[in-house]
Amino acid sequence: MNLEDIRENYKKFDDWKIEKLATEEADSLRPEVVDILKSEIKKRNLNHSLINSVDSLTKKITDKDLNQYYEILKNHPCPKCKSKKQKINATFVGQVISIFVITNYDKSIRIACSDCLDIMHKKANIKSLLLGWWGIPWGPINTIRSLIFNFNMKKYNRTESQNEILVDFIIDNVGIMERAKTEPEKLTDFIIRINNTI
Ligand SMILES: [Zn+2]
Repeated sequence: MNLEDIRENYKKFDDWKIEKLATEEADSLRPEVVDILKSEIKKRNLNHSLINSVDSLTKKITDKDLNQYYEILKNHPCPKCKSKKQKINATFVGQVISIFVITNYDKSIRIACSDCLDIMHKKANIKSLLLGWWGIPWGPINTIRSLIFNFNMKKYNRTESQNEILVDFIIDNVGIMERAKTEPEKLTDFIIRINNTI
C-alpha cells in the first residue's frame, strides 16, 4: 500500500481507531505513516496528548520517563474501588476452570490497590476450588498449582519496593501512560479492560 492509500484509509478511520493507534500501536508503524497519523490527529482537533503518546511510543523510554510514569501509576486512583487511600500495585492471578474434560489454567495481570488485589486473589482461589478441581487429571493438579502461585504472587499486592510487574506494564504501554498525564480517566478505562481479560 502506498502512502497516499494509507492517508486515504486513515481519513476513514473512526476517532477511537485513531486514538488506539496513537496510544497503543504507533511503535509498529513506519516513520512516514507516523507522520500521517499525527497530521490526522491535528486535522481532527483530537486531544493534543495523543501526539505526545505517539512520540512516547516512537522514541526510546528513558529512566526519567519511567520514574515519572511509575509515580503517576502508583498514585492513580484504584480502578476497582476508586479509592486513592492505597497505592496502586500489580500482580498475576492464577485461576483454574474445568469444563468437561478440558481444564483451563490462566494467569493474568491485575492492577489495583492492595486490598482489591487481595480480593482478586481470594476470588480466583474460590473459583478454582469450585470450578477447577474436578477435571481429571489436570483439575486437581492445576488447582493446587494455582493456589501456590497465588500465594506467592500475593507479595506483590503490598510491595513497598519497586514492583517489577508494574514496571513491565509501563514499558509495554508508554503511549497510555503519556496520555494519562492529561487524561487520567483513559488510564482507568485501559486498566479496567486489562483487569477484565482472562
Ligand atoms: Zn481498590
